[in-house]
Amino acid sequence: MTGSLTGLENPRLDWAGADGAPYSLAFDDVYFSRQDGRAETEHVFIQGNHLPERFISWQDTRPFVIGETGFGTGLNMLCAWACFDTHAPDSARLHLVSTEKHPLTQDDLRRALNAWPELADRARVLVSQWPEPVRGVHRLILSDRVILDLHLGDSVECLSQLDGCVDAWFLDGFAPSRNPDMWQPALFQAMAVHSHPEATFATFTCAGIVKRGLKAAGFEWVKAPGFGRKREMLRGHIATPPADTSRQPTPWFTPPPSRPTRHIAVIGAGLAGASTAEALARRGVRVTLLDRDTPGAGASGNRQGALYVKLAAETNLQSRFYLAGLLYTRRLLERLDPERQLWDDCGVLQLAMTDKEARRQATFLRNNELPASVVEGITAAAASHRAGVALTHGGLDYPGAGWVRPAALCQRLAAHPGIAFRQAEVTTLERHEDNWRLELADGDVLSVEQVVVANAWQAPAFSPLEWLPLKPIRGQVSELRLPTGVSTASLTRVVCAGGYALPVLEGVQTFGATFAPGDTGHELREADNATNLAEFEHMLPAYAEALRAEGVEFEPAHMQGRASLRAASPDKSPYAGPLPDAPAWRRDYAALQKNARRAPADASQHHPGLWISAAHGSRGLASAPLCAEVLASRICNEPMPLERELVDHLHPGRRLIRELITRR
Ligand code: SAM
Repeated sequence: MTGSLTGLENPRLDWAGADGAPYSLAFDDVYFSRQDGRAETEHVFIQGNHLPERFISWQDTRPFVIGETGFGTGLNMLCAWACFDTHAPDSARLHLVSTEKHPLTQDDLRRALNAWPELADRARVLVSQWPEPVRGVHRLILSDRVILDLHLGDSVECLSQLDGCVDAWFLDGFAPSRNPDMWQPALFQAMAVHSHPEATFATFTCAGIVKRGLKAAGFEWVKAPGFGRKREMLRGHIATPPADTSRQPTPWFTPPPSRPTRHIAVIGAGLAGASTAEALARRGVRVTLLDRDTPGAGASGNRQGALYVKLAAETNLQSRFYLAGLLYTRRLLERLDPERQLWDDCGVLQLAMTDKEARRQATFLRNNELPASVVEGITAAAASHRAGVALTHGGLDYPGAGWVRPAALCQRLAAHPGIAFRQAEVTTLERHEDNWRLELADGDVLSVEQVVVANAWQAPAFSPLEWLPLKPIRGQVSELRLPTGVSTASLTRVVCAGGYALPVLEGVQTFGATFAPGDTGHELREADNATNLAEFEHMLPAYAEALRAEGVEFEPAHMQGRASLRAASPDKSPYAGPLPDAPAWRRDYAALQKNARRAPADASQHHPGLWISAAHGSRGLASAPLCAEVLASRICNEPMPLERELVDHLHPGRRLIRELITRR
């Protein structure tokens, strides 16, 4: 799955049947019958897995997890959600994981679900967050208690990359005779590996290939009466689960044992900390969020920031993560702020101002087949039209990206009622007996079971993180207040090349940003305003000229702006995960220094209950919210919102392993 970033084809449907239900032309099979589709779902999948009884008695702090092959119209999952809401206690949470290789278009989804008026409210939530048809995991927050992870791609590939376990399987997908490619031994194996002890399954089919495959993978099954005209169906449970060997070659990425926790401290109330605090609070964890300043006062404190990513020409794990992050942040904003007071998905243009960049973009477009709704290459004329100003170059257009008010977003996230914000500087972080002891500059001491460190480049000041490579990078953005009465139309897209320029907000044209690794100065510098201005005029000559013609003064000394320090890792990917006990890792993985292929059989230790979200650089808007879900999911022992290899890519321990291997 490392391959390219890929769009998936929507299915061709026929709606002309007597019952008006969608019919797959490729598989020559029904998604559901409109007369009795819901009753069939209830009989086969809901009752087949004994969900009402299991929901009633669910007391675990982790969510109950349902896994499905073939999301289709989502009817099964919406029925499971309704059943959960009816039966589960208030404390319970539900996590849905479903695979889909041919996702419906949003319009087809809406039309198909129109058949079930009693599910209309839930269908509306699903349709409003429906993801772009891009391969990979898409997390949808359906309610405070219900999460849906759509794993878009082939079921076998998706489930073998699943980082998480399932309590009840809905083995759906078109009939084995119509879709033999899916009903493979590898599918049943992947289900078995990702089953919690006692996991059950149910399926509408009794085909021999299914019975044999399930048995070989370690499931026991019984025949049960089928629905309607179908005489029999299968249901059963996992009896002898196989071992999960997926992390054998990289034991260091094995997650630490889960520790149920009611109270967690998050250090740092920028985007990384505020979004992690919100993700935990949404799961019912009590959070103390600490910052020496108010939420969103640091590097996440700009009034307006670009929500964008720069994807590598040759796809790599980092690009896959950032694309997933961009798409996740958009869904988060849509849910949090449907009125768009905090953001605008006006689109982002990445201009190809040099031959080198034009070649890079051409290679990117050749290597990746993403839908035009995500990114497309466009000419200077089309770019000018979309940006609302004359541009000299074309480039890549991301129609769903845009800009956000980062400081306001931090404040909104931190305002969750489950978060207690405390303005205080944490001076020391130490393990004390079974807890973490936080000393505060005001002399107070806090003792908590788990801590998330999210204070950007200052994280290594805490002794358990001394080893962690993080570099401060000074960045200054410039703000030009336009005189009232200026008639030049604002940009209608974010435009970037060497720098970036945002659409005018409340009479202020913002552009930036400088990039000074190692510089820790916070003060506003006239020279940096001049640098930003030169870049702005180079990128947008016609727009700058029009403003000048109206008497706007481009005077660095008179421009406002804001300088802050972002943090970057050496490989430019964020850190999101558990923190290794560095001395233990250096000892336990020392053999890697002699032979990089000699991975020890056993995993070394992490600091119990110590986590990080940092190194978001200048792209925290795209990375921090998804990293927050990565942390909250791991801490709360639920399936992860990314493929396993991407979860591993974010693990801070990757730097220690690299250090051992390269020191050979
Ligand atoms: N569970 C669905 C519902 O509640 O509407 C109905 C599922 S429909 C009968 C089967 C689904 O499986 C289709 O959406 C189809 O695209 C999907 N599918 C078929 N083969 C697949 C594969 N190899 N991997 C992932 N999805 C697949």
